[in-house]
Amino acid sequence: MTSAKRRIVIDAGHGGHDPGAVGPRKLYEKDVVLDIALKVRKILMADPLNEVLLTRDKDVFIPLEERTSIANRKNADLFVSIHANASQNRQARGIETYLLNWTDDEEANKVAARENKISLKQMKAMNKQADTVEMILSDLNRENKRDESIKLANYIQRSMISNLDNDYKNISDHGVKQALFYVLFGAKMPSVLVEVSFISNPEEENRLSQDSYRQDIAKSIAAGLNTYVSSAPVIQKVAEFRHMSYSR
Ligand SMILES: [Zn+2]
Repeated sequence: MTSAKRRIVIDAGHGGHDPGAVGPRKLYEKDVVLDIALKVRKILMADPLNEVLLTRDKDVFIPLEERTSIANRKNADLFVSIHANASQNRQARGIETYLLNWTDDEEANKVAARENKISLKQMKAMNKQADTVEMILSDLNRENKRDESIKLANYIQRSMISNLDNDYKNISDHGVKQALFYVLFGAKMPSVLVEVSFISNPEEENRLSQDSYRQDIAKSIAAGLNTYVSSAPVIQKVAEFRHMSYSR
């Protein structure tokens, strides 16, 4: 077993003047995801091998590109951005985990457009810009980042579904998806974005307002991260080498 520490950056979406999605009962995405991020940090810190950094630990605005820059500057091993989903359709519900990639999936593009604060039309146009997409794809292929992000996304998604499905009714599994999220652009480490539930759905908004549900989500994300770390010997070695050279 390696004694390497892993540096995990948890990113609570939105903040400050950007409330994110707002539920029918006026619950703000920025408040929900900050609380979940703080809970994830607390759970992960119980393991002395985990070093956890938050992009924000209070209600402040941070530009999307700054969030990944923080993770890159800190030489993070993993980056997880936490969000709550929203749809015009109040019936829409469920959990999905994203990694950065090109897509022609309409629903995925709608989610990314909202998180990027651009129109769906602009989102679709971006997917057709050959140079942008090529840059992203070549970056993704470097150092198995794409494969590792898929693996990380799968562990987190599976952990959330299996844990929450035990205690809550109608947990809907949308699986692992991909889209062009600004917040994941240029991340040098495996990185994913989790949409923990739909704040636009009255029942899910009600759950998201409860401390116990947020705690269960945080536990599930942390468990998925821990499973990934213990099953990723290559990443651990990279981290070990990095920290060794740092401690000299
Ligand atoms: Zn969001």
